[in-house]
Amino acid sequence: MGYSIQYSTKSGLGKPSLEVYLYGCDKPIPCSGCHNRELLDIPKVTSDKYAIEKELMAEIENFKKFHKQIRVSFVGGEPTAKHNIDKLCYLSNKIKSIYVDSIIIVYSWKRLDRISHEVYGSIDYGVLGEYVKELHVENQLPSSTNQIIYDFKNHSIVDNINLDK
Ligand code: SF4
Repeated sequence: MGYSIQYSTKSGLGKPSLEVYLYGCDKPIPCSGCHNRELLDIPKVTSDKYAIEKELMAEIENFKKFHKQIRVSFVGGEPTAKHNIDKLCYLSNKIKSIYVDSIIIVYSWKRLDRISHEVYGSIDYGVLGEYVKELHVENQLPSSTNQIIYDFKNHSIVDNINLDK
């Protein structure tokens, strides 16, 4: 399939969100303490974006019954990798076109200057930078001190989030 969709209580910037895992990571050397080793390999066969859309939209309708604001987080693997970026752009644009107040978040090992401008139009926030185990911070987003949360709409870095609250 090359993807999976899960419910998360915190990955919507400390709030509940749907997590869309797009498998396969393009980081040349895996992060120390990679927490998704089973998703590192780029899948040989993947579901197309329309199949993911169908499942995701059904999940969003269910999510909507319990939450006022739709939050969707794209994680990996690496959602901005060459083999995933078309899916990321298509799905995030689709969500925004239907749920205009939704919040879309991308988790990526890449720093801002390596994120393709293709994603800028439909993404609200990026949690950016590689995860470094030695720089880990407990109960905080981002979870290592070298990472940032970037607001793509306002072009600014936003404060770290305490996940204890
Ligand atoms: S970006 Fe994610 S999947 Fe890739 S090596 Fe780092 S933690 Fe693992």
